[in-house]
Amino acid sequence: MSPTVLVVEDESKLRDLLRSFLEREHLTVLTAASGADALALASHAEPDLVVLDLGLPDVSGLELVRELRRGSDVLVLILTAMSSEEDRIRGLELGADDYVTKPFSPRELILRVLAMLRRGRGIDESPHQRSFGGHLLEIDDDQHEVRVRGIAVNLSPTEWGLLSELARIPGRVFSRYELVNAVRGYEWEGYERVIDSHVKNLRRKLGEDTSHPLIIETVLGIGYRLMPRRDGS
Ligand code: CA
Repeated sequence: MSPTVLVVEDESKLRDLLRSFLEREHLTVLTAASGADALALASHAEPDLVVLDLGLPDVSGLELVRELRRGSDVLVLILTAMSSEEDRIRGLELGADDYVTKPFSPRELILRVLAMLRRGRGIDESPHQRSFGGHLLEIDDDQHEVRVRGIAVNLSPTEWGLLSELARIPGRVFSRYELVNAVRGYEWEGYERVIDSHVKNLRRKLGEDTSHPLIIETVLGIGYRLMPRRDGS
């Protein structure tokens, strides 16, 4: 069955445009023009992903993110005005999985949606609690929590995305290019180098000694890989 995407957008032109682009990718598309309709549809149709415009006429988009999150683990992609960085950050804090700023190209948004669905499926197929680096690192998908030596670590959505992608196939080397695609859903010029700084932050949070990493290994000239468990399982 094809994944279902709910588009919540009060501008009818944009709503129709998104519908046609998403349908072209063989996704099932539902649309809502208000927050009230969105909540009703989300609870009945249980979409896999919601594309949510934060600027809605009847309710605060941020409040809607909170409501959507309360009832389910549906993926949420928020659309925000370029100027409202506050809303974007607040939206991510409330549990949105990614954002796109207006104006955007439909193609960019579609690629982001497809990457999110891929990532979401990858997580579903794996056990909900996994350990790496000889049990140093635990990823708990149910709790959306990462623990190092049993202690929870706060990761940004990008860091979580990076780690999830590496954990998809422990021991396999992921190129920076692949990691950019996994995290952002499309190629972003110059972003491959940004991956290095995200990995650096991720390692710091995981308590890694950069000269002797136990969890994430740098593969020179290519990218990174997550250390397989040392007991070989
Ligand atoms: Ca709007």
